[in-house]
Formats: sequence, C-alpha cells, structure tokens
Amino acid sequence: MSDKEKLYEGKAKILYRGDRPNTIIQYFKDDATAFNNVKKGTIAGKGVINNKITELIMTRLSQIGIPTAFIKRLSDREQLCHDVEIVPLEVIVRNTAAGTMSKTYGIEEGTRLRRPIIEFSLKDDDLGDPIIPENHILVLEIASEEELIEIMEMTSKINDYLRGLFAGIGLELIDFKLEFGRLSDGDDGHFLVLADEFSPDNCRLWDFETQEKMDKDRFRRDLGGEVEAYQEVARRLGVSLETEDE
Ligand code: 5GP
Repeated sequence: MSDKEKLYEGKAKILYRGDRPNTIIQYFKDDATAFNNVKKGTIAGKGVINNKITELIMTRLSQIGIPTAFIKRLSDREQLCHDVEIVPLEVIVRNTAAGTMSKTYGIEEGTRLRRPIIEFSLKDDDLGDPIIPENHILVLEIASEEELIEIMEMTSKINDYLRGLFAGIGLELIDFKLEFGRLSDGDDGHFLVLADEFSPDNCRLWDFETQEKMDKDRFRRDLGGEVEAYQEVARRLGVSLETEDE
C-alpha cells in the first residue's frame, strides 16, 4: 500500500486514494480501541474478517435496494469504495437494551424493546460522540429533514433485513451503528448511501442458545476469546477466511 496516497488514518481503518476517479480504498487494521481510545489493543486477523464480513453485508444490502459506497473487495484487507462526504452522525439502532442504553436508564442488558429505536450521535471524538436529538441536527444543519427521513427509512429496512439474516445463523442482532455518506450524482446533486463498515466491531451479536457475546464487547469488557468470536461469526455467515494475498 506504500505507493498509495494516505487520506486519513482512523482507529480501525486507513483510507487511501483509489486508482479510479472519486474512489477510496478502505484498509482494515487489526487495531481495536474502546471508550473513545482509552482502551487500545489488537485482535489478530480482525482486519481480514471485518473486510470480508463488510463485503458480504454490503453486497446483500445492495441486493435489497440499499445504495452503498462499497464497490468491490481488492484483497484480504482492502476494499474499493466510492468517495463520499460522510454525514457526521453515528446512526444507532437498538432492538434489545444493552451498552449505553442499559447504563443510562438502568435497564437490564438483554431486555427486548417493544420496537426498535433509532438514535443519533454526533461523530466527533473530541466531544466523545455525544447523543444528538433530531431538532439539533436540523438547526445545526448537520443533515436536512429530507436526509434524516431517508436515513431512518433506509436504517429500518437494513435492521429488518439484518435481524433476519443473523437470526438465521443463530445470532441475535442486539444493536448496531451505521454511517451514511453523500455520493455525487455526477451533476450538481448527490444521494445518500450506506458507508463505512458492518462488522462485529460496530454491532452487538449474542448467540441465541448460549447468550455468548460474539462481538467487540469481548474486547471492551476483557472477556477474552475475541478472535474466536469474530471467526465464528464469519464461519456462520459462510465467509471464507483463507488468505488470497500472496
Ligand atoms: P452503545 O451506544 O451502547 O455504546 O453502542 C451501541 C451500538 O453501536 C453497539 O453495537 C456499538 O458497537 C455501536 N457503536 C456505538 N458507537 C460506536 C463507535 O464509535 N464505533 C463503533 N465501531 N461502534 C459504535
């Protein structure tokens, strides 16, 4: 990758300029962070697993009509994506109480919610990704009303589809985080697409039978077995982890 122009290095990924116009390359690292960078470590092979799981999920979602920034996987750790302007919001879906929601309201983790909740956080590490209400998003012009409606419609559809997909392999989709981007239509306009990644780094997955956590909470909470949990999610999804890079 050394000959590529590095555009940005995040906690779990590096972005390089792609070799086609208006594209970027997402390079998935093994680095893991939690609690806004306070806890740092690595999960061996995570980058390869998350790259391949993201490929599968983005491909499936585009097949059900969700536009995504994903173009194609290039190698074990790299994927080519459209260059989008990221909407600086973390779109969080909760089907079952866990994590921040359980802590904030004192609700036992694992309590099923009457209906899914979609909430937003401002994507800003310096501010600690604060939760942001819709009226603040609109007044601060972070996204327009039309965009918010579209984001919520797409997010509901994604949740319905992914809950079923994971249930089919014995995993309960507890919650997850999405990011959306504005993709130029080649004229003056743009449209919204699902961007970033979908992997056990940004969702909670519990085994239906054993209630085992199969996601990044294993790292956040020092439970151990994170490599095996990520590998098991990939295995159940039918994602091959055989290396293709030589
Ligand atoms: P919570 O708000 O309970 O910490 O997280 C809710 C869900 O969103 C979890 O599945 C968690 O993995 C995901 N999530 C929330 N914030 C972030 C973030 O900054 N990065 C990543 N990778 N996932 C996040």
